[in-house]
Amino acid sequence: MSTIFIISAPSGSGKSTLVKHLLANVPRLRFSVSYTTREPRGAEKDGENYHFVTREAFETMLAGNEFLEWAKVFDRDYYGTHQGILEDAREHGQDLVLDIDVQGARQLKEKFPDAGAVVTIFILPPSKQELEQRLRSRGEDSDEVIARRLGKAADEIRNYEAYDYVLINRDLREAEATLSAIVRAERVRRARIEDQIRPILDTFKS
Ligand code: ADP
Ligand code: 5GP
Repeated sequence: MSTIFIISAPSGSGKSTLVKHLLANVPRLRFSVSYTTREPRGAEKDGENYHFVTREAFETMLAGNEFLEWAKVFDRDYYGTHQGILEDAREHGQDLVLDIDVQGARQLKEKFPDAGAVVTIFILPPSKQELEQRLRSRGEDSDEVIARRLGKAADEIRNYEAYDYVLINRDLREAEATLSAIVRAERVRRARIEDQIRPILDTFKS
């Protein structure tokens, strides 16, 4: 059974940086590429950052019940996680990492209520000032876009109570280590490793 790790954060908190490090340093993880109806931005590639699809194509998949979870984000575009991604991860003995919003996190917690089946992590910046600084130093957004992102962050941060873990991204190295530790610790929950425990116990049978 694959564990579903959900990571959410306001834009600029360091989520992409932390997820990239996690995928490069912890084995048996697969990143879930979502479907979206929004336009690609900057250097984004179809199939890598998202599967970019038309609204018609998305609605057809929706009608066919193909999504594990889906949401309309910012009252505009559709985003969804395809069922197939979980089947793929299971076949390959991998856990899944999802970069999705709080609506998706809630849906998956309801769908898989067993303890440890869905693990949710919210990444917080140390302060609004630091978040603004990071958005500026990233150098991707205009003043207007930065102001909009900061406004949105104030709303998003209120959702932290729906999450299992809240990771404050102060020192990057420390946050990277903590995120890896969360994944590794969740993997040794007793209920998740019963099938590994039994053969060990069997070796002690006389
Ligand atoms: P997100 O994916 O959440 O939008 P990014 O990973 O793009 O955020 O990070 C935003 C900016 O902040 C990037 O320039 C990144 O290098 C920087 N950054 C990330 N974590 C830290 C940290 N702990 N301290 C300082 N800068 C950071
Ligand atoms: P962006 O358009 O900036 O890439 O993402 C906007 C928001 O949509 C982010 O909060 C991101 O986590 C969320 N998101 C991306 N993919 C999905 C998805 O498949 N499902 C849900 N529920 N949210 C998603």
